[in-house]
Amino acid sequence: MNRIKQDFSILIVDDDKTNRRILKELVEDEARVLLAKNGAQAIEKATDLLPDLIILDIVMPDMDGFKVIEQLKNKRETQHIPIIFVTGNTSMEAEEKGLRLGAVDYISKPFHAGIVQARVHTQLQSSAQRKMLDELARYDSLTGIPNRRFFDEVIEREWQNCAQVQQAITLAVIDVDFFKNFNDTYGHLAGDKTLRAVAQVLQSQMVRPRDFVARLGGEEFVVVLPETDNRTAEDILHKCINAVRELDISHSSSDCETCVTISIGSYTELPEQNSNPLEALDIADKCLYFAKDSGRNQIHSQQFKQEPIADFHIV
Ligand code: GH3
Ligand code: MG
Ligand code: MG
Repeated sequence: MNRIKQDFSILIVDDDKTNRRILKELVEDEARVLLAKNGAQAIEKATDLLPDLIILDIVMPDMDGFKVIEQLKNKRETQHIPIIFVTGNTSMEAEEKGLRLGAVDYISKPFHAGIVQARVHTQLQSSAQRKMLDELARYDSLTGIPNRRFFDEVIEREWQNCAQVQQAITLAVIDVDFFKNFNDTYGHLAGDKTLRAVAQVLQSQMVRPRDFVARLGGEEFVVVLPETDNRTAEDILHKCINAVRELDISHSSSDCETCVTISIGSYTELPEQNSNPLEALDIADKCLYFAKDSGRNQIHSQQFKQEPIADFHIV
């Protein structure tokens, strides 16, 4: 199976069974094919399955293709999906209308196999490039680990997940100690090398599938530990502290140790659906400053206040 076929899906929308079959045969070597036979089904499948490309017939009963394009372009989830519309109507006006509504291209009936395949191929190539750029944009170029943008996506998702199952989530902010001094003593290049080593070692501590670390910026990192209480989080974060110390990178201008160390602020919350994860990040940040103030190379953690258990009297 070729690579594009594994990675891409195309939704074919046509009220005519024969057209759906012909189009399917023409493109099925390029991608997984999904089918819809009317506008309502097209919108439902596009929203649920988020195909990489939609091939959309214009002339259909009930809801025509133009209306489908309008609705898809008005929905946040589907507005980015490229649409190639199919027209038997060779009038310039129809072509112009489809393109103005946001379709990327069109093909005309009767189908010319080579043209259909070439246009579909071009759009899938653009999708592949877009996916690759999106992927690159989620990683930090210096350290190769996830960046702030990726963190924003993960925390949003995990916060909701934990709220749904009513499980605690721990957020931790990690900062390299006396790193300005390190740069001043060993140079910026050595500083970069150290950040890469610290990032890798933190990443290697994220052994459970949903544990996640990102570089927040500068010499700061953030860890997300879903479905993790304060005590389990402390165990994992202590391992992070030890693993960085075990790198044993000399730091003669550190006031707390002779090697590079980190400090961690950690906050465990039992999230609610409408609460804001960035408030938890703020608390973790305050805990970090407490860890710094208390001598660095340590964790300071805090957790949500549990409801006091009501007094219970036997009469
Ligand atoms: P503290 O223990 O209180 O965190 O002290 P600090 O010196 O680590 O904190 P401060 O915020 O004063 O300095 C952070 C330093 O991190 C300053 C900056 O030059 C360095 N830094 C930030 N980003 C990079 C980077 O990408 N590469 C290198 N080499 N240094 C960086
Ligand atoms: Mg800092
Ligand atoms: Mg620092």
